[in-house]
Amino acid sequence: MKFTDFGLHPTVNEALEAMGFEDPTPVQEQAIPEILKKNDVIACAQTGTGKTAAFLLPIIHQIASGQGGNLNTIIIAPTRELAQQIDQQLEGFAYFSGISSIAIYGGGTGTVFDQEKTALTEGADIIVATPGRLLSHLNLGYAKLGNVKHLILDEADRMMDMGFNDDIKKIIEYLPKQKQTIMFSATMPPKIRSLAKESMVNPVEINIAISKMAEGVVQEAFLAHDDQKIPLLEALLKDKKDLRSIVIFTSRKVNVNDIKRNLRKLGLDADGIQSDLNQAEREEVLRRFKNQKLKILVGTDIISRGIDIDSIDLVINYDVPGDAEDYVHRVGRTARAQSTGTAWTFINQRDVYNFQKIESLIGTEVDKRPLPTGFSDGPNYNSGGDHSSRPNNTNKSKKRKKKPTGGKPKKDGNAATPSGEKKIAYPMKKKPPTE
Ligand code: AMP
Repeated sequence: MKFTDFGLHPTVNEALEAMGFEDPTPVQEQAIPEILKKNDVIACAQTGTGKTAAFLLPIIHQIASGQGGNLNTIIIAPTRELAQQIDQQLEGFAYFSGISSIAIYGGGTGTVFDQEKTALTEGADIIVATPGRLLSHLNLGYAKLGNVKHLILDEADRMMDMGFNDDIKKIIEYLPKQKQTIMFSATMPPKIRSLAKESMVNPVEINIAISKMAEGVVQEAFLAHDDQKIPLLEALLKDKKDLRSIVIFTSRKVNVNDIKRNLRKLGLDADGIQSDLNQAEREEVLRRFKNQKLKILVGTDIISRGIDIDSIDLVINYDVPGDAEDYVHRVGRTARAQSTGTAWTFINQRDVYNFQKIESLIGTEVDKRPLPTGFSDGPNYNSGGDHSSRPNNTNKSKKRKKKPTGGKPKKDGNAATPSGEKKIAYPMKKKPPTE
């Protein structure tokens, strides 16, 4: 199937051609026709599957075909980074359609708030927003939402995890009852199901869950105690001087500054995205990284869904994420769109159990590499890990409950979903961007 088979507006096809998009991904093949038919859609698809275009293209088509009007579509995303990323893709796809959009997210100055207010008052076609910031505007009463025809909730599971459940419900109360609601989520926990039940009418379900890395990722793990991790980073990165873009993830916010400081002490070009940075500072760090002016970016899982950069050579998990889906998201930052990349994970004794769960989810045994010469022994992988003393265990158990993982074949790559059907591993085909 080709994009041209959808019968999208000529300006949309023109943009797709300019961007080198030819073949739709599975989620696009399934979602675009349903959205065009004005059905409510609930799609289980992770980042990297092409989900953003799956909802943007049919919406842009409808507005470009004259079915638009001011404040036609509201897209809600959990983080600023994701909102910006959606807005950037939107600019590309809508380049020839003359559709107006604005991204509305927290942070920024009073001037930015005023600009957002103007866009909401005058009525941009599409609003891409984080829940809290949008609600701050809606509560002030100047946005007239009677014309909203489409509501899109992106990464709905993450929004629930971040505590936006009530905000989303309040936003929905501001919107007309008659509208199309589209929800994308990497997982389908019960909270998402009940939100869908409350806010959607006979939704069409699409399931493109992939819990397998893109084909090009080489995954390796190192068993290392906490005090071995910085020396290990130093030893490993010494041989990787040619790499241009490296992301280091840590589950703990407090680690970001520590890792950054230690890397800088070693003379490495590193910066971090931590929660105490203001919006402009975060954007500046991301911009330097994107433009390859900064080699090593350190951050928490918040950035794993927000960095839309195809050329990350190496992802390092400084610790193991408590949630297996977060591992997929972190590692999915490398080897994007047909390129190749490497992912290293440092596993301490407490994280052994979590990593075993991850291997079960992704259906792959990750190669455990020996520590470099001169290092004392690391933890033992076959011990099953230390369940009781994992500090992040309590945190994470409040978060998303993991799906049952029974019946997954190991080493076969295509793992089974809880319902027993096969998860599809989809290597993305993409031509280099033409910007
Ligand atoms: P997403 O899952 O929306 O985060 O998309 C992941 C990446 O794949 C983005 O960089 C998109 O620009 C790219 N992409 C999405 N759909 C296609 C497609 N049909 N062909 C090529 N690249 C795509």
